[in-house]
Amino acid sequence: MLTEGIRCFIGLGSNMGDARANIREALKLLVNTRGISVVSSAPLYRTAPVGYTDQDHFINTVAEIYTTLSPRSLLDNLQDIENRLGRVRLIRWGPRTIDLDLLLYGDESIHEPGLEVPHPRMHQRAFVVVPLADLCPDLLVNGERVDELARRLSSEQDIYAIA
Ligand code: ATP
Ligand code: CA
Ligand code: CA
Repeated sequence: MLTEGIRCFIGLGSNMGDARANIREALKLLVNTRGISVVSSAPLYRTAPVGYTDQDHFINTVAEIYTTLSPRSLLDNLQDIENRLGRVRLIRWGPRTIDLDLLLYGDESIHEPGLEVPHPRMHQRAFVVVPLADLCPDLLVNGERVDELARRLSSEQDIYAIA
């Protein structure tokens, strides 16, 4: 397997239409993107919406990739996949066919307009850290082991493994 480049983690979420199919399709488009090798993806989880709660539950997972793309170019490719799957932005944190967040780009910290890495809210979200801990339990997120963080957040937030 080609694992050239920087190890990154991508958060995937969907709560419109056939959410599982949207996640599968997004993973397929990621696999087919030049400069990206998908090495693994976590199980799927069913999670309660946060932020804007008057909407359907989400299906979430996390993918581990290696990329030769720059952070900005990787984000562009993620947004391109969102657009191809029919994402429209109406309400902040509202319903969406697909959401692809760049969670971690190696161990880089990036603070640019429109691009913050590590994703600034990831350490508060069970739907991110639980699947991330499945892939890489000893990863440090916000200075804490991600499996510890996952254990704590999953006792506070609704999250169920579905596949
Ligand atoms: P949240 O960021 O809280 O998960 P969201 O995913 O619903 O919310 P979006 O509407 O998808 O937010 O994205 C808003 C903007 O966030 C994007 O246009 C993008 O430029 C910016 N952004 C900043 N950092 C990142 C990142 N690490 N991954 C993805 N988008 C990011
Ligand atoms: Ca998001
Ligand atoms: Ca997003």
